[in-house]
Amino acid sequence: MEIETTSHRQLIDITASLDQEIARTGVGTGICMVYSPHTTTAIIVNENEHGLVGDILKSIDAIVPQDGYAHDRIDNNARSHLQAVILGNSACMPVAEGGLALGTWQSVFFVELDGPRRRRLTVRILATNDE
Ligand code: ZN
Repeated sequence: MEIETTSHRQLIDITASLDQEIARTGVGTGICMVYSPHTTTAIIVNENEHGLVGDILKSIDAIVPQDGYAHDRIDNNARSHLQAVILGNSACMPVAEGGLALGTWQSVFFVELDGPRRRRLTVRILATNDE
Protein backbone atom coordinates (compact mmCIF):
# COMPACT_ATOMS: atom_id res chain seq x y z
CA MET A 1 0.00 0.00 0.00
CA GLU A 2 1.41 3.43 -0.91
CA ILE A 3 0.65 6.74 0.78
CA GLU A 4 1.64 10.21 -0.38
CA THR A 5 1.73 12.43 2.70
CA THR A 6 1.13 16.14 2.22
CA SER A 7 2.48 17.81 5.35
CA HIS A 8 5.32 17.50 7.85
CA ARG A 9 3.13 15.74 10.39
CA GLN A 10 -0.15 14.12 9.61
CA LEU A 11 -2.55 11.41 10.73
CA ILE A 12 -4.14 9.56 7.82
CA ASP A 13 -7.09 7.22 8.41
CA ILE A 14 -6.27 4.01 6.50
CA THR A 15 -9.20 1.93 7.82
CA ALA A 16 -11.15 1.92 4.53
CA SER A 17 -8.02 1.04 2.52
CA LEU A 18 -7.30 -1.91 4.81
CA ASP A 19 -10.91 -3.09 4.47
CA GLN A 20 -10.48 -2.95 0.67
CA GLU A 21 -7.29 -5.04 0.92
CA ILE A 22 -9.12 -7.60 3.07
CA ALA A 23 -12.05 -7.73 0.60
CA ARG A 24 -9.58 -8.26 -2.26
CA THR A 25 -8.15 -11.37 -0.54
CA GLY A 26 -11.56 -12.87 0.22
CA VAL A 27 -10.51 -13.64 3.82
CA GLY A 28 -13.55 -13.79 6.10
CA THR A 29 -12.00 -14.53 9.47
CA GLY A 30 -8.37 -13.90 10.31
CA ILE A 31 -5.70 -11.38 11.19
CA CYS A 32 -4.68 -8.15 9.46
CA MET A 33 -1.17 -6.91 10.14
CA VAL A 34 -0.07 -3.48 8.94
CA TYR A 35 3.59 -2.55 9.23
CA SER A 36 5.45 0.63 8.39
CA PRO A 37 9.03 0.02 7.17
CA HIS A 38 10.03 3.63 7.91
CA THR A 39 11.80 5.10 10.96
CA THR A 40 9.85 8.37 11.19
CA THR A 41 6.27 7.11 10.87
CA ALA A 42 3.89 5.16 13.09
CA ILE A 43 0.71 3.09 13.05
CA ILE A 44 -1.89 3.70 15.75
CA VAL A 45 -5.48 2.65 16.45
CA ASN A 46 -7.78 5.24 17.97
CA GLU A 47 -10.76 7.50 17.40
CA ASN A 48 -10.95 9.63 14.24
CA GLU A 49 -12.17 12.83 15.85
CA HIS A 50 -10.65 16.10 14.66
CA GLY A 51 -9.94 17.48 18.13
CA LEU A 52 -8.38 14.22 19.29
CA VAL A 53 -6.13 14.04 16.24
CA GLY A 54 -4.71 17.45 17.22
CA ASP A 55 -4.44 16.36 20.85
CA ILE A 56 -2.39 13.30 19.85
CA LEU A 57 0.15 15.46 17.99
CA LYS A 58 0.20 17.99 20.83
CA SER A 59 0.79 15.25 23.39
CA ILE A 60 3.70 13.61 21.57
CA ASP A 61 5.23 17.09 21.16
CA ALA A 62 5.00 17.57 24.92
CA ILE A 63 6.59 14.17 25.55
CA VAL A 64 9.42 14.74 23.03
CA PRO A 65 10.72 18.34 23.05
CA GLN A 66 12.18 19.86 19.87
CA ASP A 67 15.89 20.15 20.57
CA GLY A 68 18.91 18.56 22.19
CA TYR A 69 19.45 15.24 20.39
CA ALA A 70 22.66 13.65 19.11
CA HIS A 71 20.94 12.38 15.94
CA ASP A 72 20.17 15.96 14.83
CA ARG A 73 23.82 16.21 13.72
CA ILE A 74 23.00 13.62 11.03
CA ASP A 75 19.75 14.82 9.43
CA ASN A 76 18.03 17.03 11.99
CA ASN A 77 15.00 14.81 12.57
CA ALA A 78 15.66 13.11 15.92
CA ARG A 79 12.31 14.28 17.25
CA SER A 80 10.49 12.48 14.41
CA HIS A 81 12.37 9.24 15.14
CA LEU A 82 11.70 9.48 18.89
CA GLN A 83 8.00 10.14 18.42
CA ALA A 84 7.84 7.14 16.07
CA VAL A 85 9.48 4.97 18.75
CA ILE A 86 6.85 6.01 21.29
CA LEU A 87 3.87 5.33 18.97
CA GLY A 88 5.10 2.08 17.41
CA ASN A 89 5.31 1.02 13.77
CA SER A 90 2.70 -1.73 13.38
CA ALA A 91 -0.73 -2.91 14.36
CA CYS A 92 -2.28 -6.36 14.34
CA MET A 93 -6.07 -6.55 14.22
CA PRO A 94 -8.77 -9.19 14.03
CA VAL A 95 -10.68 -9.75 10.79
CA ALA A 96 -14.29 -10.90 10.95
CA GLU A 97 -17.01 -11.11 8.29
CA GLY A 98 -14.53 -9.98 5.65
CA GLY A 99 -13.43 -6.73 7.30
CA LEU A 100 -11.54 -5.28 10.24
CA ALA A 101 -13.24 -6.15 13.53
CA LEU A 102 -12.57 -2.85 15.27
CA GLY A 103 -14.32 -1.27 18.21
CA THR A 104 -17.14 1.18 17.45
CA TRP A 105 -14.89 4.24 17.82
CA GLN A 106 -11.67 2.77 16.49
CA SER A 107 -9.90 3.70 13.27
CA VAL A 108 -6.44 2.77 12.02
CA PHE A 109 -4.10 5.68 11.35
CA PHE A 110 -0.84 6.00 9.49
CA VAL A 111 1.13 8.72 11.29
CA GLU A 112 3.56 10.81 9.27
CA LEU A 113 6.16 12.45 11.50
CA ASP A 114 8.70 13.74 8.95
CA GLY A 115 6.85 14.46 5.71
CA PRO A 116 5.78 15.22 3.18
CA ARG A 117 7.04 12.04 1.54
CA ARG A 118 5.96 9.02 -0.45
CA ARG A 119 5.50 6.18 2.04
CA ARG A 120 4.94 2.47 1.70
CA LEU A 121 3.08 0.15 4.08
CA THR A 122 3.28 -3.62 4.27
CA VAL A 123 -0.08 -5.30 4.81
CA ARG A 124 -0.47 -9.03 5.51
CA ILE A 125 -3.85 -10.69 5.82
CA LEU A 126 -3.96 -14.19 7.21
CA ALA A 127 -6.97 -16.48 7.25
CA THR A 128 -7.67 -18.38 10.46
CA ASN A 129 -10.29 -20.99 11.22
CA ASP A 130 -13.83 -19.72 11.33
CA GLU A 131 -15.34 -19.91 14.80
ZN1 ZN B 1 17.14 10.73 10.93
